[in-house]
Amino acid sequence: MKQLLLIPGPTPVSVEVREALSRETISHFSQNFASIYKDVHEKMKLLFGTEHGVPFVIAGSGTLGMEISLTNILDNGENLLVISHGFFGDRFAEIGQSLGMNVDILSTLSGDHVDLKAVEDKLKEKHYEAITITHVDTSTGVLAQVESITKIVRNLSPQTLIVVDGVCATGGIEEKMDEWGVDVFFTGSQKAIAIPPGLAMLAFSSRAIEKRKRIKNVRTYYGDILRWIPVVEDTSKYFATPAVNMVFALQESLNRILDFGLPVYFEKHTLLAKKVRAAMSSLGFELVAKIPAPTLSVFRYPEGVDDESFRKLLEEKELFVAGGLKDLKGKTFRIGHMGSTEEEDLFLAIKRILETLEEMGIKVDRGKTLEAFLKS
Ligand SMILES: *Cc1c(COP(=O)(O)O)cnc(C)c1O
Repeated sequence: MKQLLLIPGPTPVSVEVREALSRETISHFSQNFASIYKDVHEKMKLLFGTEHGVPFVIAGSGTLGMEISLTNILDNGENLLVISHGFFGDRFAEIGQSLGMNVDILSTLSGDHVDLKAVEDKLKEKHYEAITITHVDTSTGVLAQVESITKIVRNLSPQTLIVVDGVCATGGIEEKMDEWGVDVFFTGSQKAIAIPPGLAMLAFSSRAIEKRKRIKNVRTYYGDILRWIPVVEDTSKYFATPAVNMVFALQESLNRILDFGLPVYFEKHTLLAKKVRAAMSSLGFELVAKIPAPTLSVFRYPEGVDDESFRKLLEEKELFVAGGLKDLKGKTFRIGHMGSTEEEDLFLAIKRILETLEEMGIKVDRGKTLEAFLKS
């Protein structure tokens, strides 16, 4: 039976990317590697929508991206405003607190958006050195109104640096770092970029880099962007050994995405989201998010579907979805439809979900659900 890896990361990895991973490892000092490493830095800029930002490709997970973005632009005791639509937004607050920053948080965990008026009020009340926005919160599936929030920040508090977590978004949704005035954008490798977990990719604006230079005691060594800038400028230089084969994989995947064409790749995500939602809605599963992201769906169970048995039965059919986080645990499940996931994978997934519900003694109308998928 075909494995359907539909948790919201890691996402399925194509044969081509797996072949890139299994290529013979080469010297990170070689000209060959330097040119591949340079190429992935340049291509990541296209995904973030930046011409002027300085890109970084560093071994680590998405959480390293979060930490690097805060340690490099905030000093001890500085004010950080966190806009949180769930578990991953909240994680920014935790990181900020553990680094001794003064953190205020505006959050909703219910699938709603943080009220823009509340953001305005906060910015008028106090000066914040930085604000964080999670483009897609993978716990609720909420798509943040990044553009509206960045506009408010630039109007009311132009000095505030803007950080956007693109871990479950970059590649799957259009992002415009320069146009939106974002100072730090970052993502991880295992979501819409469709390679295994293990890389954090970031981009810093010149303002963010200037701010880093003013911080005297930066509380990171490996994550200090000033140590990485010489490597970005000359990718044959050494600071810390890059994850050579992961960089091969990243290049392969970025080439595939860019050959596809970014707008077409985004459109694929939107279409797959629509299909999955139409099918699940016909079964009585509702989305948690009021404005859902195209990369994943977080569905609330209808009456009578037990979370644990449902996901256990799906696993027996090689279909992997994720459980809910925090308050949504037991009440929801999460299914990704990003990266190299194709329509036929999701069609198969819906069929396995139908079988599972039937095994659980729930009446379904197979024809109606499959038609909803196919006709959307
Ligand atoms: C997955 C995720 C993270 C954390 O990434 P890890 O690779 O698990 O460290 C952070 N933010 C968002 C929005 C995510 O989806």
